[in-house]
Amino acid sequence: MLPPSWDHHPTPVTALTPDPLTPTRDITHAHFQAGDTVVVLKGVAGRELWGDAMRVVAPSWHTPTDEDGWRLRDATGGAQSYVTAHPRYLVHLSRRCPDCLIHLRAMEDALLARFSDRDELIDCGWYTTTALGQLVHITDLRSGR
Ligand SMILES: [Zn+2]
Repeated sequence: MLPPSWDHHPTPVTALTPDPLTPTRDITHAHFQAGDTVVVLKGVAGRELWGDAMRVVAPSWHTPTDEDGWRLRDATGGAQSYVTAHPRYLVHLSRRCPDCLIHLRAMEDALLARFSDRDELIDCGWYTTTALGQLVHITDLRSGR
């Protein structure tokens, strides 16, 4: 199996798709720490998952969920280099992490078959970023905050 490619791709095609796992993922805030490298999964590209790789910077309040989050730095983020995310949005890249690997594999199992006939970069439309730099999963927007 090829390793996932976390590169930033220029022109994703949005194909709104339910996120099968992230909204109910059970992961603690303390699972992550400053300095970790993580990815926020965004969709599918060429039969692999893709996402935005970022560095965990510091604890930060995630206002859309009113829960503890993490401030992240996106080295290629330009004007939005820093965002605050909920821990369940994050998957470890920086070290071998069984918990995150299980989540990644489960996401692959749920999504790759759905797009097996598509070669373009698919953005599943799960995340938006608020004007205040809060990364919000679509299901957390719907919860009404
Ligand atoms: Zn992990």
